[in-house]
Amino acid sequence: MQREAVLFKAELDQNQATARGQRTLRSPIGCVGTGLHTGAKVSLTLHPAAPDSGVRFVRYDRPGCLPVPARFDRVCDTTMCTALGDPGGTVVGTVEHLMAALAICEIDNLLVEVGGPELPIMDGSAQPFVFLIECAGTVEQDRPRRWIEVLKPVTLKAHGKYARLEPSDRLILDCDVHFEHPLVDSQAMRITFDPESFKTEIARARTFAFAERVEELWSRGLALGGSLKNAVVVSRDRVLNDEGLRFPDEFVRHKVLDSLGDLYLAGAPLRARLTARSAGHTMHNKLLRALFADPGAWRLTGGSDAFDKEAPARLVAGA
Ligand SMILES: [Zn+2]
Repeated sequence: MQREAVLFKAELDQNQATARGQRTLRSPIGCVGTGLHTGAKVSLTLHPAAPDSGVRFVRYDRPGCLPVPARFDRVCDTTMCTALGDPGGTVVGTVEHLMAALAICEIDNLLVEVGGPELPIMDGSAQPFVFLIECAGTVEQDRPRRWIEVLKPVTLKAHGKYARLEPSDRLILDCDVHFEHPLVDSQAMRITFDPESFKTEIARARTFAFAERVEELWSRGLALGGSLKNAVVVSRDRVLNDEGLRFPDEFVRHKVLDSLGDLYLAGAPLRARLTARSAGHTMHNKLLRALFADPGAWRLTGGSDAFDKEAPARLVAGA
């Protein structure tokens, strides 16, 4: 009886979520932080945006450059982070934690202004972005929200990694990590998307790095802004951060966060189950490209007539 009541409530929540309008910010809000890879100070401003305009990034340090849509087909680099770009050479890196915050806060339309080639890393999690969004407040817009339903499974395997999207009436993220390391080892988590629980259980999980790899990253010009303030750093036998971990399984929770942010680059929230075994940004992006390359594998639901429902497939085909 109780189980039925829970199921009924979940069904009700799902229907209410389907029926509601698109969402944007009530007012602009900004912050300043450090770029993880460049180490440079960078400012970020989130602006409300019109219905059906989606999430777009604009580099205000490059006058005249066009906004880059936050979409899987604009991903130009997945080395250590997810970066968006356009043929004119405009790049916006490390978008995945902000994208995860937008997924959690169910923001559909937003113009993101950034003053450099990557977003500020903040504390290495999505929580500061969720905080910014909550400070600005959100408004519901007069167009219905749209969703992408996965209609048949799409599977990728490469180098011991595995990623799969399959049909589900809600977003389920099933991730794991495996490292030959006594502290991290193997961690797994399967979680159904829920905005409120994700704010406390997932948004706060920080990015992580192994101490022995940090110098190697620096020599490659990566992670120059990395520090104990914006990443969990693990040596062979301990967590170097004084405050320790936020969760015993913070590593896999951060993988869930990354997958949520990367999947939000579908251009709308997905109704699917993701299984990701040791997968990262590269596999997440390849999975979306494989999904949209097959017109029979997905369908857009909700939305208004103004939205071009065939657009993602045409973009993948290069039309
Ligand atoms: Zn991350």
